[in-house]
Amino acid sequence: MNDNSIKWIGAHVSASGGVDNAPVNAHQIGANAFALFTKNQRQWNSKPLDQTVIASFKEKCVELGFTGWQILPHDSYLINLGHPEKAGIEKSRAAFLDEMQRCELLGIPQLNVHPGSYLRKISERECLTRISESVNWVLRQTEGVTVVLENTAGQGSNLGNRFEHLAEIIDQVEDKRRIGFCIDTCHAHAAGYDMRTEEAYKKTMSEADRVVGLEWLRGIHLNDAKSELGSRVDRHAPLGKGTIGEETFQLIMRDDRLNEIPMILETPEPENWAKEISWLRSLTG
Ligand SMILES: [Zn+2]
Ligand SMILES: [Zn+2]
Repeated sequence: MNDNSIKWIGAHVSASGGVDNAPVNAHQIGANAFALFTKNQRQWNSKPLDQTVIASFKEKCVELGFTGWQILPHDSYLINLGHPEKAGIEKSRAAFLDEMQRCELLGIPQLNVHPGSYLRKISERECLTRISESVNWVLRQTEGVTVVLENTAGQGSNLGNRFEHLAEIIDQVEDKRRIGFCIDTCHAHAAGYDMRTEEAYKKTMSEADRVVGLEWLRGIHLNDAKSELGSRVDRHAPLGKGTIGEETFQLIMRDDRLNEIPMILETPEPENWAKEISWLRSLTG
């Protein structure tokens, strides 16, 4: 069994060979939370989840001590919920619905998504509205799964790099019980939100609270960055080996507002995840 620590720390583990391998892979690195892709993240179509795999996934989660809220799946990189064109948005919405339904079947109550990109064809504001409409469309057809909007680095025409973008999407979502957000530390840093010192961390977190509201916070992605503050370049680095540095992660581990939400490593060097997790745990005190 994993310990029942109030800090839920894990990594985005492999689900290759079947989603039921993910909880096992997470357990092996000492995690009490994990992320996974419920389908191949680089393909539009995947075969439906097999009933025996679903049953095995649920059994392993119970056996290894993972409740649904300790699991934060990530959606496919192909999906653009703010796509400016009809064919593009329809394809993305259908794929997003499929992913939400996979979560329903697996008993996972949340799905982390990248908000979307305007592709320089519509305004940012129009794109944010389209993203909310996509979320509303999918929430009407599903039950019990929360959409978790991840902040982004703001690379290219990706939205979600400003907390204001997330707030504007959430504001237009009809079912407020099933919407939330996730802070990726690398993305925040690349987007210009400094968290490298106690003072900077406090300032960024109070801005997230003021603009979005920490009551909507459903997860954290723990990544150091290879890119500079405000560079809008998304390059993850191992913890303590990038431009963010160790202190940020110490502050996060001691922040009581971040209890009982999945905190997920997406760092390179998966062979070091067990070490990174035990280091993070040592910081919780
Ligand atoms: Zn992501
Ligand atoms: Zn992330």
